[in-house]
Amino acid sequence: KIRVRYAPSPTGHLHIGNARTAIFNYLYARHEGGDFIIRIEDTDTKRNVEGGEESQLENLEWLGVNWDESPEKPGDVGPYRQSEREDIYMEYAQQLLESGHAYYSFDTSEELEEERETQRAKGLMPKYSGKWRDASEEEIAAARQEGRPEAIRFRIPNEGVYSFDDMVKGTVEFQADSVGGDFVIIKNDGMPTYNFGVVVDDHLMEISHVLRGDDHVANTPKQMMIYEALGWKAPIFGHMTLIINGETGKKLSKRDTDILQFIEQYRTLGYHPQGLFNYISFLGWSPGGEKELYSPEELIEVFDADRLSTSPASFDQNKLDWMSGQYISNMDTKQLTEWALPHLVEAQLIAEDAEDDELVYVEKVVGLYQKELDYAAQIVDLASIFFHDIPEYTESAKKALAFEGADQVIESFKNQLNSLNDEDYQEDKVQPLVKAVQKETGIKGKNLFMPLRAALLGEASGPGVNETVEVLGKEKTHSHLDYALK
Ligand code: GLU
Repeated sequence: KIRVRYAPSPTGHLHIGNARTAIFNYLYARHEGGDFIIRIEDTDTKRNVEGGEESQLENLEWLGVNWDESPEKPGDVGPYRQSEREDIYMEYAQQLLESGHAYYSFDTSEELEEERETQRAKGLMPKYSGKWRDASEEEIAAARQEGRPEAIRFRIPNEGVYSFDDMVKGTVEFQADSVGGDFVIIKNDGMPTYNFGVVVDDHLMEISHVLRGDDHVANTPKQMMIYEALGWKAPIFGHMTLIINGETGKKLSKRDTDILQFIEQYRTLGYHPQGLFNYISFLGWSPGGEKELYSPEELIEVFDADRLSTSPASFDQNKLDWMSGQYISNMDTKQLTEWALPHLVEAQLIAEDAEDDELVYVEKVVGLYQKELDYAAQIVDLASIFFHDIPEYTESAKKALAFEGADQVIESFKNQLNSLNDEDYQEDKVQPLVKAVQKETGIKGKNLFMPLRAALLGEASGPGVNETVEVLGKEKTHSHLDYALK
């Protein structure tokens, strides 16, 4: 049975790269009818952050990812937090000690650093000396007596080649002596290192496929050595291509401030989770063909691991914004209004305890801009005019208002509107009036619409005049028109 896992370390918010790993594992599991498991890799206790696990999982759920087993939803192979599996790791470390595949070592961090320094100075790749490899019982007892830090190290094979058939990269090969010497499997604090924990867990949790980031390729030979020493079969590995910043062509880094990198940031700004899910699914994979918008169900249907790309995935913020916008424009306006409200409140355009009729107004404003929004927070910049008495003109609005026929158009429109009853400030009732203005002034097209829009909205482009008047209502419409004529 196909079983895959996403194994986050609770060291911070969910990053785009991690979200992609989770999404690909999820799509693969669902496509193949397998299981998708969440395991929390929290053994690097210094790096764990309070609430890290919750926030990672919450953001995954927000994206629409779900799973079959996790700490909160245990199956038969738990516990699902590494910090709760210490005894299990110790049991297998013991087994490796007994079979001679592991040994105790007692180096201080200063000694290790010095060793590496000396090697670097000679132009060598740092590699552990293996100095405790053959220590006697007496030497071990003396080191413990001295209170030296104690670790358990894996005795790597002196030679040989480790090769595997990567789902993405094809055949990958490593020389045994390229892994930096005997590596630690149990640290001084009794916790397993990543490479050891991951092997024990993936085996006991019956993981069949390990799909993870490219940054773990070099760990794979170490993990294979451990599988071999324990007499276990390794899972199938797949290492997904790097994500690069489309602007710079360099590996996406936390310093790339022009890109939002944490799912939480997108969520806060009111991006559409399905837009994000859709976009992330295309980072290093594609179903082929022209179609770009896929629902999660469709993605599950078409997901084909053979199509995982070998070239770096280019992250393009504009493309992501566009994709989110596609989902936003088709969503329920009431729900979009809920996403927009906190931003309008924060910008003090509306009160936190706004009355129902104000909320109806907000929903109309949101509806007016729905097609233009990529994410909900944009409503603040786009529509602030609807919450102010006097418009602030953009440069292009000023230009439109400076056009010689502008005043004539606005004046005529005002007069036409005077023929309307209060309750007739509606799109379909306004439309013939604009026609009448055209007839009366002889001005049409751009020269007609831009000054009107500028007067009503403070900008020359944006939603249509008719629907703008409907949303603004009589009072605001007239005060804006009057202001423009001053
Ligand atoms: N905890 C590891 C990480 O966050 C998981 C790596 C793996 O999937 O083996 O990168």
